[in-house]
Amino acid sequence: MTCHARWGRRKPTAPRDGKWDLVVVGGGNAALCAAITAAEAGASVIILEGAPKPYRGGNSRHTRNFRCMHEAPVSVLTGSYGEDEYFDDLMLVTKGQTDEALARMVIRNSEGCFSWMAAHGVHFQPSLSGTLSLSRTNAFFLGGGKALVNAYYNACEDLGVTVLYEAQVSHVHLEGEHCSHVEVSVAGGPVQRIEGRGFVLASGGFQSDIDWLTRAWGPSAANFLIRGTPYNRGTVLRDMIDQGIETVGDPTQCHCVAIDGRAPKYDGGICTRLDCVPFSVVVNRDAARFYDEGQDTWPKRYAIWGRLVAAEPDQVAFAIIDARSLDLFMPSVFPPIKGATIGELAERLGLDPGRLEATISEFNAACRPGKFHPTELDGLRTEGVAPPKTNWARPIIEPPFYGYALRPGVTFTYLGLKVSDRAQVQRPYGALANVWAAGEIMAGSILGQGYLAGFGMAIGTVFGRIAGKEAAEHVL
Ligand SMILES: Cc1cc2nc3c(=O)[nH]c(=O)nc-3n(C[C@H](O)[C@H](O)[C@H](O)COP(=O)(O)OP(=O)(O)OC[C@H]3O[C@@H](n4cnc5c(N)ncnc54)[C@H](O)[C@@H]3O)c2cc1C
Repeated sequence: MTCHARWGRRKPTAPRDGKWDLVVVGGGNAALCAAITAAEAGASVIILEGAPKPYRGGNSRHTRNFRCMHEAPVSVLTGSYGEDEYFDDLMLVTKGQTDEALARMVIRNSEGCFSWMAAHGVHFQPSLSGTLSLSRTNAFFLGGGKALVNAYYNACEDLGVTVLYEAQVSHVHLEGEHCSHVEVSVAGGPVQRIEGRGFVLASGGFQSDIDWLTRAWGPSAANFLIRGTPYNRGTVLRDMIDQGIETVGDPTQCHCVAIDGRAPKYDGGICTRLDCVPFSVVVNRDAARFYDEGQDTWPKRYAIWGRLVAAEPDQVAFAIIDARSLDLFMPSVFPPIKGATIGELAERLGLDPGRLEATISEFNAACRPGKFHPTELDGLRTEGVAPPKTNWARPIIEPPFYGYALRPGVTFTYLGLKVSDRAQVQRPYGALANVWAAGEIMAGSILGQGYLAGFGMAIGTVFGRIAGKEAAEHVL
């Protein structure tokens, strides 16, 4: 069924006997998929989005693509990408910490998501240069996640779904196995109750609660940057944990990448990512190298650099390149710092010039002759320097020299609510009767660690639709 034709807009539905059929907590991809599905089944639905309208859509508005199983070329997706290959890719990144049944369910259902998304206003585009390696596996959204989120809000409006913005839910009221209402403050007003027959929790992870992050990670987490929305503070997750709901995932696990140190504290998004590490010498605050920059190709290694930088003093590092490497990677939105000499660059980066000169000289002396190949493991390695650089080890000699500060950028946390294959939220002794969860808040049920590009949106879309369907069947 399609609903994005804007002429068919319904009047907002009202609660029956003071109760909504479905109360959806959150306003990102998972929440919207649940709301649309339930509203299409005839449920009266209210969305409680914690963010103000211009910032609606959580981390979903920063996304670019979703990973989609398909047996043959379809629309922008080339070739085929079957269930087993998709699952093997997942097992590789999670090192086996994956719930196989739930993972395979998401994978199989991802195939049907493509046409469902298109029918609800999402347009796709072919992969562009820099992302061509994903053209077979990941479908890119035309206009990015922001366009996707806007299309889904339009679909919700057409279906008569009511949306409250700046609606911060602080408590999900459980009585035995049932939820009767949530407590919410709208635009900073007094706390009020919103009653419902069913509830979908889709309020993301807890990465934007820096206090919680520092409790899990230690004080250094205060220096982390958060790549997405400041509104995912885990308030609902914490409230559910306090009420004895089962959790999955490790609080100290999060997806964390190295991003441009000039990124804002929150919401810097994809354009603050830096892909220069393989072609750089990376040093810490003391101008010392600390890890093999050329261990593997960037898509395979980029997710480890967030943690590596997090372990260095002041949680900062600096990537140094010369003029020959400037065009070999996707730059961040910020221009690099430039110096005519290594010493001048060091001063501009706030590093000790003598120490950086010594580190670069030692590295240059350890580089061996050979053929440099930027897009494959070229085996061009150093000898006699620790740590080694095992690929792309070219001396840094051609001025001008460039540098970027790197900081850990948290994408999302893994601790979440345990759900069944019907998206029902679990207590230690059985499921809640009328509460479902979708998206990042339950992704730990599937992803124990690591991350596969495009799988976050796949989980949210599949579980959002399941939650909306199950909730509608329960209440109607
Ligand atoms: C920069 C960046 C790029 C990414 N790129 C991709 C990509 O290309 N592909 C991919 O698959 N994944 C990507 N991800 C991961 C992806 O964003 C998430 O997996 C996905 O968006 C999660 O969807 P969600 O609906 O669960 O959460 P979100 O989209 O984050 O939505 C959570 C919602 O809950 C609301 N909320 C939070 N607390 C409350 C509360 N107490 N009361 C009411 N509302 C509340 C928030 O305002 C928000 O609207 C990216 C993430 C980031 C940060």
